[in-house]
Amino acid sequence: MSQPARIPLRDEFNSRAHDALGDAQLRRNFRGAMDSLMEKRAAAFSDADERERLRTLGNHIRARALSRLPDLLEQLESNLTANGIQVHWAETTEQANRIVLDIAERRQARQVIKGKSMVSEEMDMNHVLADHGIECLESDMGEYIIQLDHEKPSHIIMPAIHKNADQVARLFERELGEPYTRDVNQLIQTGRRILRQKFFDADIGVSGVNFAVAETGTLVLVENEGNGRMSTTVPKVHIAVTGIEKVVAHLRDVVPLLSLLTRSALGQPITTYINMISRPRQAGERDGPEEVHLVLLDNGRSQAFADSELRQTLNCIRCGACMNHCPVYTRVGGHTYGEVYPGPIGAIITPHLVGLDKVPDHPSASSLCGACGEVCPVRIPIPSLLRRLREENVSRPDPGHAVMRGQGSKYSALESTVWTLWRTLYTRPLLYRLFRFFATRLRALTPSRLGPWTEHRGAPKPAARSLHELARKHLEQSR
Ligand code: SF4
Repeated sequence: MSQPARIPLRDEFNSRAHDALGDAQLRRNFRGAMDSLMEKRAAAFSDADERERLRTLGNHIRARALSRLPDLLEQLESNLTANGIQVHWAETTEQANRIVLDIAERRQARQVIKGKSMVSEEMDMNHVLADHGIECLESDMGEYIIQLDHEKPSHIIMPAIHKNADQVARLFERELGEPYTRDVNQLIQTGRRILRQKFFDADIGVSGVNFAVAETGTLVLVENEGNGRMSTTVPKVHIAVTGIEKVVAHLRDVVPLLSLLTRSALGQPITTYINMISRPRQAGERDGPEEVHLVLLDNGRSQAFADSELRQTLNCIRCGACMNHCPVYTRVGGHTYGEVYPGPIGAIITPHLVGLDKVPDHPSASSLCGACGEVCPVRIPIPSLLRRLREENVSRPDPGHAVMRGQGSKYSALESTVWTLWRTLYTRPLLYRLFRFFATRLRALTPSRLGPWTEHRGAPKPAARSLHELARKHLEQSR
């Protein structure tokens, strides 16, 4: 299969949003899908007390794991190695791809089958492997659909959520020569039939990881289609790729996190498959890979980890609930963000992965309504983190001491001076009264255009007299 064309990332967010808002079909597809997901989540958490207790527990588990992250990663490596799983560390996506390529070249691999993995999207693994003559086929149905249509995922859980059945039917007709049908079951069966043989042909299976358990050296992977289990057990080599933040201390921690994840993501009490991978195939066992590798990727996560506020970003268990409830994401769709992670979670994680200067508009693509923070199963304070990133965006660039790569890319000396003056006026009563006096008397001189602020609205004009003056006059007249 030919690889999808590389989508030019980091284009202007605003122009893509403008195009998406003009696409009525896209908006209908998102609205319908998000309404359904929100209903299912609400039904799955019908007991509000239980939901809130579970969210608190989830937050504590993740926060505790992050507070011991270096130790837990060492413990994880040690236990995985003892179990026979080979652990690799990658600071950048280039290093992670090199590790995968080295394994593939050593095994003389020509075909790779991939279960769903957002970290492999960060690595742009499909293209990198294709550049080295290795075909990498997506086996998750949503990922398979978008790979067939040369697209990128538009949602972290449901990559093809922007398409309806008619669009998928036309795609299968055009790319696979299948008869047109809008019957979703038939479409799924078609995909399954084609993919099934690919599992047996593949030299390597690649998967993501939902949780990596330090105390037992276990990789936990949840899925509904069985493709994850096939990808991790049928090929002779399994490579799992994940971010360093996915580690949890104990196996018992996985139970509440799984409950939060599946209910928040799809409103499911539990997924169809829960895979726990602890070692390669042993002598006498009938299935399983001969080699299992884990690639632990940093890619900017250490930067988030270093700041006690921004670290909370790493609590994320990738359920997608914040996206489903975001009024901006549901209207502009995932491709508008131009990066691997869209929506509220994307707006807080992407600046760490690529640098804030590459995605300066992402933290502002939010109404700060707070819905994301309210539904987040691990209580990530997303609105506060968005505000913090906005602040980092406009603060004076300080390469020597900046917390974030690309900090200060929206800094304007003029704007900063205006706000400093504003603060000075509002914190000194005498100055404020003088300002008020002149602003009301000289209101005719107020500029009618104030940059982007007045693109879609009129410039604010001071009243002819201040409220204080009007009140004073009213009192005098009524005496
Ligand atoms: S930030 Fe919270 S709601 Fe959003 S994907 Fe992560 S865990 Fe889910």
